[in-house]
Amino acid sequence: MSKGLDKKSTEAGTDKIVIKNINKVFSIKRNNSNKKEFIAIKDVNLNIKAGEFLTIVGPSGCGKSTLLDIIAGLSKPSSGEIYIDNKIITGPALDRGIVLQGYALFPWRTVRHNVEFGLEIKGVKKKERREISDRFIKLVGLEGFEDRYPYELSGGMRQRVAIARALAYDPEVLLMDEPFAAIDAQTRETMQDELLRIWEETNKTIIFVTHSIEEAVGLADRVAIMSANPGYIKEIVDVDLPRPRRIGDIRNSTNFSWITHRVWEILQNVQKEVAVKENKSNIAEEISVSATI
Ligand code: ADP
Ligand code: MG
Repeated sequence: MSKGLDKKSTEAGTDKIVIKNINKVFSIKRNNSNKKEFIAIKDVNLNIKAGEFLTIVGPSGCGKSTLLDIIAGLSKPSSGEIYIDNKIITGPALDRGIVLQGYALFPWRTVRHNVEFGLEIKGVKKKERREISDRFIKLVGLEGFEDRYPYELSGGMRQRVAIARALAYDPEVLLMDEPFAAIDAQTRETMQDELLRIWEETNKTIIFVTHSIEEAVGLADRVAIMSANPGYIKEIVDVDLPRPRRIGDIRNSTNFSWITHRVWEILQNVQKEVAVKENKSNIAEEISVSATI
C-alpha cells in the first residue's frame, strides 16, 4: 500500500473525526402559524480514523446532507459536538475540502479562479497556483474551459469544478455529498479511480455520501448505512477488498458482490422500518387532527 504516514495528525489508527451525540432539529411551519419540531438526525455517533475512506448511504431524506453540512461547519448541530484532531468544530475551515449539494461555485470567478480559491487563501504564489490549477482542471477533464464562468457550464461540469476546487488546496479531510451524481457513467468511473489514487497517495480522510451501493462499496473502507425519521446510523459494514483498488478490477469479484448484497439487504430493512414509522406517524397525525376538529 502506498499510503504515507508522514503527517503527524493523520497517523493511521488514530481518530481524525469524532462525531459525538449529534442531533439536528429543524423548526418547520405548519398550518400557516403553527411551528413543529422536526428531528432530522438523532444521536449520531461515529469515529472516523485518519486516512479512512468512509461512505454513507441511506434513503432520501435520512439526514446525510444534514450530517455533512454539520461536519463542514456550515450548519450547527442542535446538540452534540464534532471534533477534528481533538478540536471542536465551530465553523468551516481549510482543513476540510467540501463538495456539497447546494454549495455553489463562485459565479463571478472563472473555472481557473474557482479552482485556485483555496490556494489564494493559503497564500500560494501565482505561478504555483497556476501549476496546481492546471493539474486539477486536467484531472477533472476541463482543459480548455479555464476561462469560462459557471453559468457557461453544464451541471456535470460545474460539479467537476467543485471537485477540482476541493482537491486543489490539499485538505486533510474531504467531505463529498453525491459528488458524481450528475456526471455521466464513463467520466464517473474515471473520477472514482482518480479519487482512489489521490486518496492512496495523500492519506486524506474522506466522508463520501452516495446513492449508489456499488460506488459506496467500491470506494470505501467502511460503509455507514443510515435509517430515517429521525436519521441515525443503522449499521456499518466493513469493506474487506484489496488496496490499492480500481473500480474496474473489483467490480466482478465475488467479495464485492457479497458486500454490495449485504448493504442492499440492510437498506431493504431500513426501507421497511421507515415505512412502518411513516404509517405510525400518519395515524398519530390523523388522531391529533381529528382531536382538534
Ligand atoms: P438526505 O441528504 O439524506 O436526502 P437531508 O439531510 O437533506 O437528507 O434532509 C434530512 C431531513 O431534514 C429531510 O426530511 C429534510 O426535509 C429535512 N431538512 C433538511 N434541511 C431542512 C431545513 N433547513 N428546514 C427544515 N427541514 C429540513
Ligand atoms: Mg442529500
